[in-house]
Amino acid sequence: MIQTRGYAAIAPHTPLAPFEFTRRDLGARDVQIEIGYAGICHSDIHQVREEWGPSIFPMVPGHEIVGKVVALGSEAGKHKIGDTVGVGVFVDSCRNCANCLAGNEQYCLEGLVPTYNGYEKDGTTPTYGGYSKVIVIDERYVLRVPSSLPTSGVAPLLCAGITLYSPLKHWSAGPNKRVGIIGLGGLGHMGVKFAHALGAEVTLFSHSPGKESDARRFGADHFVLDTDKEALKKGRNSYDLILSTVSAEMDLNPYLQLLGMDSTLVIIGLPGKPLAIAAENLLSQRRSVAGSMIGGIQETQEMLDFCGEHGIVSDVEVVSAGEINLAYDRTVKSDVKYRFVIDAATF
Ligand code: NAP
Ligand code: ZN
Ligand code: ZN
Repeated sequence: MIQTRGYAAIAPHTPLAPFEFTRRDLGARDVQIEIGYAGICHSDIHQVREEWGPSIFPMVPGHEIVGKVVALGSEAGKHKIGDTVGVGVFVDSCRNCANCLAGNEQYCLEGLVPTYNGYEKDGTTPTYGGYSKVIVIDERYVLRVPSSLPTSGVAPLLCAGITLYSPLKHWSAGPNKRVGIIGLGGLGHMGVKFAHALGAEVTLFSHSPGKESDARRFGADHFVLDTDKEALKKGRNSYDLILSTVSAEMDLNPYLQLLGMDSTLVIIGLPGKPLAIAAENLLSQRRSVAGSMIGGIQETQEMLDFCGEHGIVSDVEVVSAGEINLAYDRTVKSDVKYRFVIDAATF
């Protein structure tokens, strides 16, 4: 076993604290990664606080991981020692179901293995995430990171980045398309950057008046506050695609009304409570509501390569391990520019 340390929540609602634990010895196709940075995703907070139902404790959160390969299993050939690599929201899947075979491992029908708050394929060994110094993962679930990108800004691409890139590609965001992103947080700011880079006309919808200049710097053409009823009325029936990244309960109906003919509102934020949608807002303009969850391994690699080509990374605030609990509170208050990333050297 490989000894390591990180930060864990010992029980729901307890502050995260230093935690020592072990990683498995390297299997034939495993990669041992010395973690450089781990992003703080709002999903970490939802799970530590059991906002999605019961979680597994102790919990070492973290599924936005970037680091360096320091050891390889005897048959591992996809990465080399010294490579900069990334790990995202899952570390294994069944590999055989129709979705896995199609490269949609995130929708595995048999048993996705989450990076933390889940169990390995044996069904009993808990998985521990990226708030730690070292992780051991099968090479097939490890991504190559373009060497041109600053690694602290890369970590959030492994969840926030792919989670917005995938639906933007799936629903064909591009030139001559009006795309709306609701919420300028970790996910939302990546959505603005990607939608802009893909050539779409981008509107950022926010409940925070102070975020307009940042939204425009990331590539938004328009900024609309959720209290600006006039702007919401003017935009009716005109959008091709709207992605909601909001982490809290909210009324989606005013945003549905913005969609034009045959257009789609994609739910990405996951507050944990059912949504209330007025039927007439779907009937009118034959609108759709859909959901989207992270992305597959091949698409995540495509996203990282796209970031390399376009020089895209997350805007981050780097924090030390001792600042994690404060960073959680600030994230819940929408007070982060625009992703906290933990420096793993401080674990
Ligand atoms: P985040 O950084 O906290 O951003 C969420 C944003 O939502 C905030 O910055 C804020 O934007 C807006 N917001 C927050 N509270 C609000 C309120 N009361 N009313 C209106 N708007 C509010 O969170 P994140 O890490 O981007 O994650 C966002 C959500 O996506 C979380 O629920 C997370 O669990 C989920 N998620 C889903 C997937 C997936 O695969 N579908 C993957 C990762 C995360 P403004 O200040 O601009 O209003
Ligand atoms: Zn996440
Ligand atoms: Zn599968």
